[in-house]
Amino acid sequence: MKIRELGEFAFIDRVLAAAGRERTPVVLGIGDDASILAPEPGRELVVTTDMLMEGVHFLRESTPPEDLGFKSLVVNLSDIAAMGGNPIQAYLSLALTPGTEVEEMDMFIKGFLEAAGDRVQLSGGDTVSSQAGWAISVTVVGDVKEGAALRRAAAAVGDIIYLSGPTGESAAGLAFLLDQFSLKDVTAEPLIRAHNRPVPELDLGSILSESGLCACAIDISDGLLQDLGHICRASSVGARLFLDKIPLTDELVEAAKAANIDPYQWPLTGGEDYRLLFMIREKNVKLLEEALKGLDSPIQPIGIVEKGESIQLFNRGRQVPVPEKGGHDHFRN
Ligand code: ADP
Ligand code: MG
Repeated sequence: MKIRELGEFAFIDRVLAAAGRERTPVVLGIGDDASILAPEPGRELVVTTDMLMEGVHFLRESTPPEDLGFKSLVVNLSDIAAMGGNPIQAYLSLALTPGTEVEEMDMFIKGFLEAAGDRVQLSGGDTVSSQAGWAISVTVVGDVKEGAALRRAAAAVGDIIYLSGPTGESAAGLAFLLDQFSLKDVTAEPLIRAHNRPVPELDLGSILSESGLCACAIDISDGLLQDLGHICRASSVGARLFLDKIPLTDELVEAAKAANIDPYQWPLTGGEDYRLLFMIREKNVKLLEEALKGLDSPIQPIGIVEKGESIQLFNRGRQVPVPEKGGHDHFRN
């Protein structure tokens, strides 16, 4: 059945049936003119929104709808994680072509709700028709301990720069999906998964803010260099990165070989890994390791914050050039 045969309101009923009714602290969810949230005292609200356009952010023919639904929520959850927040409500606005199969939407919603799990309540949205491809807009509302949000402008000279895990796999997976080189299935599979099913670092983000040991973080959506650049500009500092400290997976190294590129190219300039990049005062390093004990996050120190405004790269003690293409920019590349 096509979505034009089902109609807007029957579609919303279907979404509501899949999403389930509201749970505290959501007082009212889907079904009225607006939703209601009961915020907890001592907490601040954190709100983020992202938009995904067919043909710009995703190719419908090559992305399973379940993965698309999953990822469209994850990109927002990752922004909440990067603020040190705890997500509560999600809003999903869809512009759909009338010929869309209802089954495709069911799969999309299934993936979306899978990313939501028990921690996020789908609390509303909008559904409209589009004459030129899909548009997906997701908003997430979360909360954070008062005054404890992780900001881009909070890096200080001498801070240790941490990365929450390997990066570049998503970009490698995308390049593979775009047929830029060939790989064995077992090697390609984790890279494709990194691209289609990224995991938001929510537990890490909330430990960083709740512990008071960290004030500055960003999630890697546009590439390590570009996102670190955002922190440097916001904080008026420079940085020194040690390439040999950046964790690379075996699959990424193998893919870089097959594509005949430098193995650090994807980690530095490829986006959509949704790892966290965060800054820790040297005196807090020991306490941080303590605070993260229960979490199996392979955090890794990869550099230091310096005076100045540029990012300098070092590999095994020697300075190396910064790659030309810095990361993703919608209007420039
Ligand atoms: P309104 O005319 O007041 O905008 P709608 O008919 O668009 O109301 O929406 C009815 C209810 O369904 C609202 O609670 C809205 O938030 C919810 N809703 C609409 N589309 C979606 C969607 N794609 N996902 C989740 N909730 C939705
Ligand atoms: Mg509406």
